[in-house]
Amino acid sequence: MSLEESKAFVEAWHTIMLIGAISLVALGIIVYLIYQFKVALVKTLKDKYDFVNANEIKWFKAVFICFGMAAALAINLYGMDEIAGLSVSFFVRLFFSVAGATLVIYIASLVLDYYYPTRLNVKLRRLRYTPRTSGTGNKMKLLSEDEEDVHLNEGMQAEENVFSIDYDVWVDEKTSEVKIEKYLGHLTSLQCHNCGFYTMRVNREEIIETNEDGTPKELLKHYQCAYCKNVRLPNLT
Ligand SMILES: [Zn+2]
Repeated sequence: MSLEESKAFVEAWHTIMLIGAISLVALGIIVYLIYQFKVALVKTLKDKYDFVNANEIKWFKAVFICFGMAAALAINLYGMDEIAGLSVSFFVRLFFSVAGATLVIYIASLVLDYYYPTRLNVKLRRLRYTPRTSGTGNKMKLLSEDEEDVHLNEGMQAEENVFSIDYDVWVDEKTSEVKIEKYLGHLTSLQCHNCGFYTMRVNREEIIETNEDGTPKELLKHYQCAYCKNVRLPNLT
């Protein structure tokens, strides 16, 4: 490659990096907006809860992958007036751009995995405990654990007692309309008493007693914090 060709290549390279960096920032913003739009389209609060619980962290990670790659491309513009050909500095800069992207994506995923669940939990609690509206437009009341049993069949009660499942029973006191919502406990993060993050999840369930027909009667739930690896004594929630 002649000096002229090498200069032309690096010049084209800088143009591509500039357009690419701007496009990737735009893409990250678009991904974020698409996610917010999808959340807004979910109709009920319960469905919103499930959607946000299952998707928010994944989508935010995708946003930061776009931003991390944008950072890599932007780093390739550093000192573009001095680097006019395929010199050593061109490759050193290339190396730092890859390292920079890795750092941005790695830190973002750490934050999203360990710190963010605490904030997400506040959002989820709000979705779960905002008073529901009945078919006739009345505000419904959430029953306590003791009050709700009359509305739950035997199977549901067994599930609540044995598995990491919670049923929320909402009742319209004027019309007696009832809404039952099912929450899967192993998908819900609890607060870790050791580190304070909402990263404590059931990581293993062990059957310690079975009914005559072989179905589990009592389970031992093993909780472990995804952040500090602290374990919680079984069944103490
Ligand atoms: Zn912890």
